[in-house]
Parts: sequence; structure tokens; C-alpha cells
Amino acid sequence: MANVNLKDITKIYPGNYKAVDRINLEIRDREFMVLVGPSGCGKTTTLRMIAGLESITDGQLLIDGESVNDVASKDRNVAMVFQNYALFPHMTIYENIAFGLKRHKMPDTMIKQAIKRAAEVLNIEELMDRKPDQLSGGQKQRVALGRAMVMKPSVFLMDEPLSNLDAKLRVQMRTELIKLHQELNATFIYVTHDQTEAMTMGTRICVIRNGVIQQVDHPKAIYDHPANAFVASFIGTPQINLLSAILKRDERSDFLVMDGLRLQLPKRLRDSDTFIGKAVTVGIRPEAIALSSNGRHSDFKIQVIEMLGSDMNVHLVHEQMTVVAKLPANGHYEKGMMFCLEIDPACIHLFDPVTGIAIK
Ligand code: ATP
Repeated sequence: MANVNLKDITKIYPGNYKAVDRINLEIRDREFMVLVGPSGCGKTTTLRMIAGLESITDGQLLIDGESVNDVASKDRNVAMVFQNYALFPHMTIYENIAFGLKRHKMPDTMIKQAIKRAAEVLNIEELMDRKPDQLSGGQKQRVALGRAMVMKPSVFLMDEPLSNLDAKLRVQMRTELIKLHQELNATFIYVTHDQTEAMTMGTRICVIRNGVIQQVDHPKAIYDHPANAFVASFIGTPQINLLSAILKRDERSDFLVMDGLRLQLPKRLRDSDTFIGKAVTVGIRPEAIALSSNGRHSDFKIQVIEMLGSDMNVHLVHEQMTVVAKLPANGHYEKGMMFCLEIDPACIHLFDPVTGIAIK
């Protein structure tokens, strides 16, 4: 069992810099929680506070209901996997993995068994006699995981563990980490700035900005129901289109008016009354846009096409407005062609243009 509970956790660094601002987050037993956000948002600081590598300025950190604010890192039953692997260069891989177990005075025969098991799971049996500088980045990453695994922690803490790997290996290791999580039955807390990693790996995602949690939910829920414009634009590639519009209402429904577009909204939005006649920010995911040449106004001109293989990102402009549509790659599109946009009203998100908060 390992449930990690952050209650009003704050970190102020010397110089009065608030890196983490009253974070409340409950990470459930055996969950794969991903902390995601742009560089400098406080993810690593939060992880290091959970690890016991950084002091907590304010708030309470509970592991399985026990306050661990004053418990040393080695006594928290957590293991951290670092971005730079942090292997000891003068030791063999075997010695690197054995290091923590030796410190805990585990008998040699048991150490051998534990390392054998971890090496099998991670497919690194052949590497035991080598030194870290004789390994590739992906192999070093596996060794770093092995070193954490043999300690049998109830919580694995991972700080951008895949960021030093090339793109192909990163994708492979993503799947392997998901499998490892399923096999180990442990709680994983994983830090990344990469929204694709967060979406593909997390059972839940915690989006952080400027030390403040923006939203915590399952990946699909965050994607479908972003709490604010920041979350909407941080999660999803290509980025959601954020456009300015005026929200209007007639007898039948609410509708949006913007350059070259009038969009009917499916039904009256619960919180929209105060925005009638006013500016709103409209969020439209690129995959919710189709192009048609049969409409009344074919006002949008193709400016750039990015071919991705199965899909393509088509950038279109109309006056000051630029939108990106994600379309199947078999469509016949060329630069300069004119289209009108077909948008499914059910896929439209609205945000307060000042606070960015979603209008529901
Ligand atoms: P990245 O993805 O770039 O690693 P992050 O979200 O993990 O970013 P943190 O490393 O937690 O961010 O840093 C949060 C903020 O705290 C940053 O503005 C950083 O400059 C600042 N910070 C981090 N460590 C210290 C320190 N020891 N002293 C002072 N400020 C620090």
C-alpha cells in the first residue's frame, strides 16, 4: 500500500521565490500519476519534496496516512529515478544495482537473487560486468530503473527519466514503463514537461503552472474538458486553436460570431449568461475541424501543409485569423486552396478571455 497525500504543500526557495504554491493532491495506491507542466512550473521541486531531497516550507506530506515531513529520505520507502541516471561511474552495473541493498545490509545471496529478477524484467542480464560509460542511454536508463526496483519501494519517483533518450527509444521505453507499472503493483509519480508522455502513461495527470495545480484528472477527461485555456493549449498536439469571438443569443440558441465564421452552439451553456454580447475565447481542437468547398463562403486559404504520414496539419488563414486543422493524409489539399471550415459544435470549448477559466 502506498498512498501519497500532499496537503497545502508550499516551497519557498531562499530569496523568497515561491516555486510551489499550496498544492493539494492525493496520489492513490498503485496509481501512475504524472505531474506535467512547462519548464520551471515546480514539478521537480514537488517530486523532490516527496522524495525527502528538498525541505517542505509549509504544508503536510503524508505517506499512507503518516506525516513524513520530518522523516529522512531513506526511511520513506520511496525510490527516485533521475533524468541523468545518477549511476556511479567507477562501479560495474551489478555493483550499481547492488549498492542500495548492501547499504541495507542484505545478505549477498539475496542481493544476487533480487538483481537477477530485476535484470530479467528489464532485459539487462548481459550488462552486469560493464561500467556505465560502456552503455547506451537506454541501457543506462534501464539500470537506473533496476537500481530503484531492487529496493522494492512502494512509491517510484521519476524525474523526466526518458528525456535523454532519442525519439524512437523514448516511445519504446514509454510502453515498457507502463508494463513495469502493471507488473510491480507500485505507486508511480512521474514528472515530465512532455504532454504526450503524460497523456500516454498517466492513469491520472496533474497539470501545474507557476507552482499552482490547474487540473487533476484522467487524460481523456483533461483533453475533453480542460478546466482553463492554459490546460487546453498545453494538452493536445497540434495545439488547440484559441480564437476571439462574441457570444450572442437568439430565441433558439447561443452562437458565436468571429471573422468569417458563425458557429451555432448545441445548447445554452450553464454559465454563459454573463457573457452574452461579450467577448469570449473559443477553443477548437484541430481534429474537430473539417474542410468543405461547398459552403457559402470559402474564406479560409491554405498557407502551410505539414505532412505527418497518416495525418496532415493544414494551416489556414482568413484576415487576422489562423487556424490549424488535422486532416487525414489522403485528402487532396494544396497551398493556396480556399475552403470553409466545418466544425462540430459539440467540440467547441469556451473560455473567459480574462481569467481563461472554462465557461460551462
Ligand atoms: P524543469 O522542467 O525545467 O525541470 P520544473 O517544473 O521541474 O522545471 P523546478 O525545477 O521545480 O521546475 O523549479 C521551479 C522553480 O524554482 C524554477 O523557477 C526554478 O528556477 C526555481 N528553483 C529550483 N531550484 C531552486 C533552488 N535550489 N533555489 C532557488 N530557486 C530554485
